[in-house]
Amino acid sequence: MVSNLASKAEKHMVWNIRYLHMLVARCITKKLTVISKHYTLRKIKASVYQYFLFLFTVFFVCFVIVGCNVKANIQTITDIQPTVLLISFDGFRWDYLTKADIPNLDNLIADGVKAKSLIPVFPSKTFPNHYTIVTGLYTDNHGIIANTMYDPEFDATFTLQDRKAVEDGRWWGGEPLWVTAEKQGQITASMFWPGSEAEIKGIRPTYWKRFDRNFSYDQRVDQVLSWFSLKVENRPTFITLYFEGTDTQGHINGPESPQVKAAIREVDNALGILLNGLKQRGIYENVNIIIVSDHGMTSINPKKTIFIDDYVDLSDVEIIDWSPVTGLRPSQSNNEKVYNSLVNAHPNLTIYRKKEIPEHFHYRNHRRIAPIIAVADEGWSISSHSWLTGGKAFLKGTHGYDYRLPSMHGIFIASGPDFKQGLVIESFQNIHIYNLIAHILGLKPAPNDGDFNLIQSTLNSEQSE
Ligand code: AMP
Ligand code: ZN
Ligand code: ZN
Repeated sequence: MVSNLASKAEKHMVWNIRYLHMLVARCITKKLTVISKHYTLRKIKASVYQYFLFLFTVFFVCFVIVGCNVKANIQTITDIQPTVLLISFDGFRWDYLTKADIPNLDNLIADGVKAKSLIPVFPSKTFPNHYTIVTGLYTDNHGIIANTMYDPEFDATFTLQDRKAVEDGRWWGGEPLWVTAEKQGQITASMFWPGSEAEIKGIRPTYWKRFDRNFSYDQRVDQVLSWFSLKVENRPTFITLYFEGTDTQGHINGPESPQVKAAIREVDNALGILLNGLKQRGIYENVNIIIVSDHGMTSINPKKTIFIDDYVDLSDVEIIDWSPVTGLRPSQSNNEKVYNSLVNAHPNLTIYRKKEIPEHFHYRNHRRIAPIIAVADEGWSISSHSWLTGGKAFLKGTHGYDYRLPSMHGIFIASGPDFKQGLVIESFQNIHIYNLIAHILGLKPAPNDGDFNLIQSTLNSEQSE
């Protein structure tokens, strides 16, 4: 019964569709007969063709008008002053340059100078090194001795997540380039850089941005290009630009991972958009571009963990910065006890009393450096049992180790009117970059640890001081 009804309904539907087809077919034939009274088939074809040609022309004209308007907004800049654009690819190890397709970096290298690697200062961490690059000072002279630190005088702790501390000028010693430049009448801008969010010596860059990892690479590049497009009286002559992707992926997935390769391509792509923007404005040849990274990256795994609490009672010490360089603050009476229990405890751990830290580390003379410092060998991590069982994911890559390890080295690439072309130089330490930039901008540098003579050979006709 049910199937009978269903087949009846089906038949009904088929008839309905047939009827509809018939109606449409009749209409079309009727229309065509009417049209054919006035036109031949060739004429119909011609008018359809004309109609599409008309549509195409309308679209093309609109496209050109919109395109011209966009181009019209990008004006050629003819009054550019000596300018430096300092770009950081966080955690971009020196050999990443051979790990992925990087056409834009390759072009810049061909047009300019490349160092075999850029040697960081100790510890090879983000904040200490970014701040060394812009001050020319060793860690213990600028005071950003770690990403996380305790100041006994302030009785306060500094962490990267603590916006109040990051933006508080009292933590930042020395004189960063933007302060040197602003003091001498130049305009500066920072599209992120450690230190740029704080008022240092009472000065911030004229234009600056609060660090926000959700601010896309495109937005960062757009912002820099729009600073270039300002009138000369408002246009900065020193600009910083920062990208964190290579560091983030190096930590999460390890330096040899496909994700790091993708991150390398991503920063190269952002660089390409930037260079294109400079070319559109006619200033690619006029801007000195310096690309650096703060440190490299090495693989780690949980099997290579040194548990501090195997040797020391954690209630005897205060530890706020853990791995791979640990600062231990025992109470005064426990100093020697803690030192003695750690000094020969583990074959991959080196222990120093603060005053015995080797001179070349330049890591002795600041109150924020803890009385006892533990440094892990490459690939080893320092932790505690409770931390490791706390369920936090173990990272696959890290940095912070001895600055002399090749895996901790970064990149230095420079191109522009003041730099030689096609030059490769030996590895050098990042303390020299401050003087180099100050020289290009015609600034009198503040006292610093760098030596201009060591980097002068990168410049055209070896300009002297
Ligand atoms: P680390 O790898 O531990 O040395 O820290 C690097 C991280 O510092 C990056 O991945 C960024 O998330 C973060 N960072 C970079 N610049 C800033 C900034 N200006 N303020 C706060 N955090 C930052
Ligand atoms: Zn970093
Ligand atoms: Zn990092």
